[in-house]
Amino acid sequence: MTAAPPPPTLQGFANEPVLELRRASVRSSLGPALESLDAALPVRVPVSVGADARTGGGARLQSSDPGAPGRVVAVAEIASVDDVDAAVAEAARGAPAWSRLAPERRAQALISAAAWMRARRLELAALEVRECAKPWREADADVCEAIDYLEYYARGAIALGRGRELLQVPGERNELHYAPRGVVGVISPWNFPLAIPCGMTAAALAVGNTVVLKPAEQSPGLGQRLRDALLAGGVPPAAISLAPGAAETGAALVAHPGVRAIAFTGSLAVGRRIIAQAAQAAPGQRHFKPVIAELGGKNCVIVAADADLDEAIPAIVASAFGYAGQKCSAAARVLVCEPIAPQLLERLAGAVHALAIGQAQELDTDVPPVIEREAMERVGRYAAEAAARGRIAAQAQPPDGEGWLCPATLATDLPDGSPVLEDEIFGPLLAVQSVRDVEAACDAVDGLSYALTGGLFSRDPATVSRVRARTPVGNLYVNRAITGAMVGRQPFGGNRLSGTGLKAGGPDYLLQFVEQRAVCENTMRHGLEV
Ligand code: NAD
Repeated sequence: MTAAPPPPTLQGFANEPVLELRRASVRSSLGPALESLDAALPVRVPVSVGADARTGGGARLQSSDPGAPGRVVAVAEIASVDDVDAAVAEAARGAPAWSRLAPERRAQALISAAAWMRARRLELAALEVRECAKPWREADADVCEAIDYLEYYARGAIALGRGRELLQVPGERNELHYAPRGVVGVISPWNFPLAIPCGMTAAALAVGNTVVLKPAEQSPGLGQRLRDALLAGGVPPAAISLAPGAAETGAALVAHPGVRAIAFTGSLAVGRRIIAQAAQAAPGQRHFKPVIAELGGKNCVIVAADADLDEAIPAIVASAFGYAGQKCSAAARVLVCEPIAPQLLERLAGAVHALAIGQAQELDTDVPPVIEREAMERVGRYAAEAAARGRIAAQAQPPDGEGWLCPATLATDLPDGSPVLEDEIFGPLLAVQSVRDVEAACDAVDGLSYALTGGLFSRDPATVSRVRARTPVGNLYVNRAITGAMVGRQPFGGNRLSGTGLKAGGPDYLLQFVEQRAVCENTMRHGLEV
């Protein structure tokens, strides 16, 4: 008889390696992956209530290619209020069996789901290229991150399943263990269309909850693929229902009294609404409904006078314009110390002029199309505001052609209080401001309501420790780009109005998806029972 393999441990976790796109053989595999995906489009996305695929109330939504809006990528049934009701009931029905499984068994299902994704990584990345205009490199990184979440939370749940050590004294036995909450509603954005819904869902499932997932209306096809992966890994259908739709479907999920917790990633405006709605208990609801919310940012990079600009310029450009600035972690403002401000601005302007705006599938594209027409128009309005109240230091124009292509803009000389300096624009627009010194830069960062990511370029250890001590942001990056947090290495999430949650991809994230239960037993003998 061979012994069972030991359960996976967090020490055994390693990030999924990204594709080596510098290799010609890897690059040549991308075109065929896209062609075979195109031949299979559109992805059909039913409402999935456990094993039951429904047509919803008859209403549908379509996702389309931001680079060629005529191309329909997925057709999804919209989950009605009744469908959400049925999905929550099914998830509640499936909860006892899934929660009773040993953490190792649930972990095995998630790790098998990761293997399913790994075997289809090009197909999944191709779908991201089409559905969300993610350039190949970033689409691949998103698939890798989804795999990482599955592997990491599976392992973390095994460790959590062992409970925690408490102080023991003679005469009593103390225990602290963790129980799943029940049904978790997961509501996700489109900008990391596989990794983010996967992370929230995997965490909830790993510790024994069941999930009703509402993917973003812009990326239902990838929501469907996430469910396919989980089912293929062995997660039972009753543990993962899919409710495609837009705000109305999400609101129905938030309001449902059978939902025990909400995991939400998205904008501040929607997050506020969800937190307020979840605080209203429905009649007969016997629990509070915690909201784990990961929200937006207005992320600043501080450039000290002693910074190495050869290092700073490419890192700032990648942070601000990668994926057209549509990352919650993207750089939106540069606060540069006066002595080097003219030099930095001149070099950044040169770099912005040289950006290639184009289609997501082209490997030489720096700035792909933005997600939808409304996003393109919003960025345009902020660029016009920057031109009117400040100055455009550089702009790269998109080529003629279809898609939601947006100029890449570098703005400067903006007055304090300008919405360009305060709002999350979520597009390819970067504002540069000159500040007296690093303290003044820290004051500007401290004046913001958002506190998600931030950056610092400096060669002085004293400056680094000063900024580290002062910054309110959830993720500070020193002398590097401010995007691209890795699971297990840079636990990710914001403070202030950037979020309520413990950090995703970090050791504490799972704690939000469980209830703590402490048991104290009197172990003194009180005589023998006869
Ligand atoms: P969004 O807030 O518009 O939508 C997010 C999700 O909420 C979608 O599924 C949407 O259908 C749903 N929704 C909308 N109204 C709702 C309502 N009233 N009730 C319930 N659900 C509702 O955000 P988006 O445009 O999809 O994504 C971009 C935003 O997400 C940016 O603000 C970005 O900073 C943020 N984001 C944050 C993180 C993070 O980790 N902090 C990561 C990625 C994106």
